[in-house]
Amino acid sequence: MEKLRARVQQLKKKRPGYGEILDFYQKVKEAQNKVKASLKIGPMKLKKGWKDLLAKEGFSLIQKEDFPVDIEVSIKLFQSLCQIGKEANSHMAEQVEKINEAIDNKKIDLKKLLKMGANEKKIEQVAAEFELDKKVFAFLVWNSIKPSIEAGMEQLRSELDPETWLKGYCPICGSLPSLSLLKEEGGKRYLLCSHCSYQWRIDRLFCPFCNNREQKSLQYFCGEGEEAYRIDLCDKCRQYIKTVDYRNLEESDPVLEDLATLHLDILASQKGYKRPVPNPWTI
Ligand SMILES: [Zn+2]
Ligand SMILES: [Zn+2]
Repeated sequence: MEKLRARVQQLKKKRPGYGEILDFYQKVKEAQNKVKASLKIGPMKLKKGWKDLLAKEGFSLIQKEDFPVDIEVSIKLFQSLCQIGKEANSHMAEQVEKINEAIDNKKIDLKKLLKMGANEKKIEQVAAEFELDKKVFAFLVWNSIKPSIEAGMEQLRSELDPETWLKGYCPICGSLPSLSLLKEEGGKRYLLCSHCSYQWRIDRLFCPFCNNREQKSLQYFCGEGEEAYRIDLCDKCRQYIKTVDYRNLEESDPVLEDLATLHLDILASQKGYKRPVPNPWTI
């Protein structure tokens, strides 16, 4: 956490406009970090024959909603995140009030909802029923179960070789990547799972969203004076992924780096490219 706090300070100095969102990120990470030690999740169960399914069929080990969740910890975290949200801005404060009212009146069964894990349909349904901002509600639920998800991912990590999967989706949970990372050793490229945070290797010339490998339709641009960040564009599917280049940057939390470079997303969108996995922090 010390490293994260120092990096937040550094980024705030460099880009004061991001102060609010970076402070918010730090508070959420602190709350998640606090509960980590008390987290208890059961052993992960894998399908029979998973090795073959993974190697031959390209099936991920589990589904997004299969991660076991520590309910008690998640409820506590949900309450902390509501508090942080309340203090962050008036829109979130208003949403949190509505959510808490529905929970207090036993109209939303938080325990049941968190138990279902990352069940997007259910979250959407509840948000619609109580006229909640879907993005805010999903953000609160997902970040409350995130420490459980990451603990589950850690359990499965040893089953896989991150260097040999080479596909555009996560071998653990099948989700799309939120970011791409270039790392020291010869500039190897990795993808970061948007759901469980697993990292796996891919080829340098590759669009994870449409599997395009043609050099002529894959290009990138950097922000001015920001060679540590680039936007990798694919002209075949007109989508992009942001890349954090750690050859030009000290090791840091990639999600934080993503948040501090939202101006690059605006540029990409102005050029007509879409980000398949929107940044969940821009609520
Ligand atoms: Zn994953
Ligand atoms: Zn593509």
